Amino acid sequence: MRVRLLLSFTVIILVAVAGVVFIASQGAASEVRSFMARGGMVRLDSLVDDLEAYYRQEKSWQGAEVVLADYATAGHGQGQGQGMMGQSLILADADGLVLLDSTGARPGQDRLSADELEQALPLHSGLWTVGYVLPTGGMGWNAGDERFLVTRLTNGALLGGLAAAAVALLLGLYLANRLSRPVQALTLAAHQLSLGDLSQRVKVTGRDELADLGNAFNHMADSLQDAQESRRAMTADIAHELRTPLAVQRANLEALQDGIYELNPENLEPVLQQNQLLSRLVDDLRTLALADAGQLPLEFVPASLAALVERVVARFQAQARSRQVELALELAPACPQVFMDPARIEQVLGNLLSNSLRYASSPGRITIELACQQGWVECAIHDDGLGIPEPSLPHVFERFYRVDRSRSRDEGGSGLGLAIARQLVEAHYGTLIAANHAQGGAVFTLRLPVHAQL
Ligand code: ADP
Repeated sequence: MRVRLLLSFTVIILVAVAGVVFIASQGAASEVRSFMARGGMVRLDSLVDDLEAYYRQEKSWQGAEVVLADYATAGHGQGQGQGMMGQSLILADADGLVLLDSTGARPGQDRLSADELEQALPLHSGLWTVGYVLPTGGMGWNAGDERFLVTRLTNGALLGGLAAAAVALLLGLYLANRLSRPVQALTLAAHQLSLGDLSQRVKVTGRDELADLGNAFNHMADSLQDAQESRRAMTADIAHELRTPLAVQRANLEALQDGIYELNPENLEPVLQQNQLLSRLVDDLRTLALADAGQLPLEFVPASLAALVERVVARFQAQARSRQVELALELAPACPQVFMDPARIEQVLGNLLSNSLRYASSPGRITIELACQQGWVECAIHDDGLGIPEPSLPHVFERFYRVDRSRSRDEGGSGLGLAIARQLVEAHYGTLIAANHAQGGAVFTLRLPVHAQL
């Protein structure tokens, strides 16, 4: 990238300098001409041509003052034949006898001195020299002078251009380095990341597009690292969860095989229980995997959450009575129907209620409150247990998280129930939050939008 940037800078600089030099040299030629003319200077080669043409036509210098006047007045716009101070055009015949003086300063019949004759330009007609024209006071210039001046100006422009190009190239090198450095760092970090080093981050400075790219890269690396860590933790947790029921099953089966236990339904019961536990765990993991992949099959229909809550509460009545827990249902009148998959929301409510029953006091009370606000229907389940320790509150929806590991496992909990519940609720574009009630006990609040944005 750096080389490409530098090449681009070089091309741009060279094109710009060449353009400036070309335009400057073109402009210099015409500027030189008009500057000379404005200063009252006469282009000698064309003066000589015109005078010679005049002579060829007229065969004498009689009336040649019109040609001289044309040149003497060209450009400076002063009085007829009047040049700038000390400037004049003198026409002499072949013998050096002054015939005309554009300023009229030289008297007729005056002769050009030897010096003047040397400086004068001869006028030819065929092979013969028929006269001389003498510009005085720096009044004449010719094509050679113009070329010389234009070449000098062009060289000056070229030199200036080359110096500017050198400075611009140095600046370009610095800029190319500066621009390519973060990209190089990003490329290196991306390469390391692809080799498995997920700790790679790039230093982000400034607030331009490159900084945005750096931030996006760092976010991506964060997510990849988080995903890798949670995958590792998940694998370890799954192995851990499988180990206990498998060990219990194995010990029981070996005891049955060795004849230590008699093979009867009573001794097979623990094996069956552990098997059921394993089946539930596998089912839960499958549900989570499907939810993670966004492939959980959901059948959305408009249904009443109140009716669903009543059904779930009825299902848990017997269990609640056996634990001497009262299930108090407080339904707000006329809540709108919710667009949901009733089987999945029933699974969520069942999970919340069975948790509350497990942690409520005995005898105790669980309040199930249904309310509706604009666009939302809300169900809060509040038990009168010990609640959730504050440090554990942010973690209860994490996979395999249990506040009291041994108690939860003894009671058949896998630590996946709330994680699944939240995934299911989020698949309905709703929210599920846990809190401790001011009067004690935990309260889980499920909120579902009346119109899910499908
Ligand atoms: P588990 O299958 O272990 O119950 P969950 O995901 O359902 O797993 O719950 C995670 C943890 O949250 C539980 O182990 C428990 O410590 C805590 N928890 C859930 N519901 C309650 C509640 N009503 N009161 C107190 N703690 C609770």
